[in-house]
Amino acid sequence: MTVEYTTLKDASGKLAPSDDEGVRDTVRGIIADVRERGDAAVREYSERFDGWTPESFRLSDARIAEIVASVPQQVVDDIRFVQAQVRRFAEAQRASLTDFELETLPGVRLGQKSIPVQAAGAYIPGGRYPLTASAHMTIVTAKVAGVPRVVACTPPIRGEIPAATIAAMSLAGADEIHLVGGVQAVASMALGTESMAAVDLIAGPGNAYVAEAKKQLYGTVGIDLFAGPTEILVLADQTTDPFIAAVDLLSQAEHGPESPAVLISTDEEVARRTLQLVEELLPGMPTRDMAEPAWRDFGRVLVVTSRDDAWVLADDLAFEHVEVLMSDPREALQRMHQYGALFLGEGTTVSYGDKVIGTNHVLPTRGAARYTGGLWVGKYLKTVTYQEVTDPESSALLGEICGRAARVELFEGHARAGDVRTARVRGTSLRW
Ligand code: NAD
Repeated sequence: MTVEYTTLKDASGKLAPSDDEGVRDTVRGIIADVRERGDAAVREYSERFDGWTPESFRLSDARIAEIVASVPQQVVDDIRFVQAQVRRFAEAQRASLTDFELETLPGVRLGQKSIPVQAAGAYIPGGRYPLTASAHMTIVTAKVAGVPRVVACTPPIRGEIPAATIAAMSLAGADEIHLVGGVQAVASMALGTESMAAVDLIAGPGNAYVAEAKKQLYGTVGIDLFAGPTEILVLADQTTDPFIAAVDLLSQAEHGPESPAVLISTDEEVARRTLQLVEELLPGMPTRDMAEPAWRDFGRVLVVTSRDDAWVLADDLAFEHVEVLMSDPREALQRMHQYGALFLGEGTTVSYGDKVIGTNHVLPTRGAARYTGGLWVGKYLKTVTYQEVTDPESSALLGEICGRAARVELFEGHARAGDVRTARVRGTSLRW
């Protein structure tokens, strides 16, 4: 790989892996099969992809307690610490959403309130790594939103039960824990099977198959957002420590071979040195088998000529994670409009966001940051409205205007619903 000198127009749009038709077809087939054959299909796919066919995919309370008890105390303490961080932030989000009523005319009240979905599915990835932290992000946040039934699914990891993840799911407050993953888990939650009642919304990250399954099932079920293979963008200038930049690029490339890791630097020497350090560090990484293909296929080191260009290009990419390792990193809060989460300055890192700090790590990928932020309490809530008119004169006035407005649109039935209210109040006759 070499350092590339880029102009804005040739760099953007080429950095994310393209959509894969094979993935789409595989996912379509599995969903159709689960729809038709329920648990029998789930069992077959679980055996094929995960080598896993227990008597029941759902863990009993007694089994959960046994698993939690097997987890070392330090791990449990750390899970509790992180869940407290996530909960505090989620509670502040909940508090920022206030229900309200507005009186627009005498006796005319318009209201808005937030209602939690009644059942949510939390997908916790676990194909390559047991993503314990995703349990905090999906389940704690759902519970803070007030979701009464949270169904949590995670796959076994290489045929083993991911004990720390199960402990995190339980401590986070999951109402049901099912040890099943991939498309078959997402389809079960969306469609329901003999052993699992369907949910109303599915949240959580996952690989390309999981993300595609959520996309295809959207409509049958709600989804939080498109949260597929992770992405990192690091912004650097002459003040950036290339060692920090290199370590952080690799920290996200290790997620999997489809994860883009990109550096944009205004300083050529920092770009050169970062590239060199990534190459030096890669061979010693125990997770090299994930990080190296990601870096070779989707890694880029770009040099731009100005700080302005760095902001514009970074915004254009709309990456999931953006680490600002430049001087005055808070400038990003003004200059950037498209990202999943910002990491400002050398004191923090995407890994803090992923594992410990308390902001949600379920974030938009593949450009979805153009239209959504990440998972938060609001994704589990439905914002609904209501109205009431208790003043007869206001009702009559609205009836008059409704009659005229509806007739402009040729809606005679709507117009009459207004007319009848006006006539009641004014004692006038209806002339239909
Ligand atoms: P996963 O749980 O998402 O996927 C594992 C499942 O994939 C398996 O259970 C299996 O059923 C299914 N699968 C594997 N190969 C298949 C095939 N050929 N056909 C059909 N199904 C198949 O775990 P993972 O694979 O480790 O991926 C986790 C992903 O989550 C990573 O890509 C990571 O970057 C991403 N992630 C994203 C975010 C985000 O917010 N965007 C956050 C954390 C993690």
